[in-house]
Amino acid sequence: MKNAKPKTASAPAKTRSKTLPKTAYSKDEIAEVFRRFSIQRPEPKGELEHVNPFTLVVAVALSAQATDAGVNKATRALFAAADTPEKMVALGEDTVRDYIKTIGLYRNKAKNVIALSEKLIADFGGEVPRTREELVTLPGVGRKTANVVLSMAFGQATMAVDTHIFRIANRLGLAPGKTPDEVEAQLMRIIPDHYLYHAHHWLILHGRYCCKARKPECLRCVIADICKAAEKTNTIPAPLVELPQQFMDPPLP
Ligand code: SF4
Repeated sequence: MKNAKPKTASAPAKTRSKTLPKTAYSKDEIAEVFRRFSIQRPEPKGELEHVNPFTLVVAVALSAQATDAGVNKATRALFAAADTPEKMVALGEDTVRDYIKTIGLYRNKAKNVIALSEKLIADFGGEVPRTREELVTLPGVGRKTANVVLSMAFGQATMAVDTHIFRIANRLGLAPGKTPDEVEAQLMRIIPDHYLYHAHHWLILHGRYCCKARKPECLRCVIADICKAAEKTNTIPAPLVELPQQFMDPPLP
């Protein structure tokens, strides 16, 4: 399934809190950072394979502490066998466990997949709900999973803070925060609305391919002149061009 697009840029609920630490960047600098990201990757996509909102919920729930590529490998066969909550329940926990046993924490995740399928049938008519409040009532679905589902399945602008986004937000001083929730609130507040829908993927991909955890590749960085990270090793921005496909996708396992 292709990612849903933000048809009406469904106004994100911008959280404002006086207690949040301040970004180290001016409004213009933030706009310029995301303008450059938008040129590098005009159409960033989520990497988790899915065929409908239900399989996306399952894929995201399975992806905790696992790579997207590893999840895709397991879910291709699983989703061919069961792409609705009803079929998943019919498959049963033991069989689901067999399909996903290459993924970390698979026993618990198989339990959750069945439990969330049962809840979708019992409480939501077999449909994936469209609000964060409802999504987080599903077993194995936390705020981050709900944000990914709202964005990828329903085109809502959200900010699911993963390890890359948390690192970049703090390393650059872009949206400092002690917890993913703090970083999420700060990013939702400072990123211009028209960049918000894709911002989640831009930050993840920038972290995965350029601003890497152990050693950021500042020589290849298009925001090296703006970045205020202490670890920065270069101040000349890399040429601003659309990147080839290999910098759009997850690395192979
Ligand atoms: S200049 Fe270096 S530290 Fe700053 S964002 Fe780019 S890669 Fe990361």
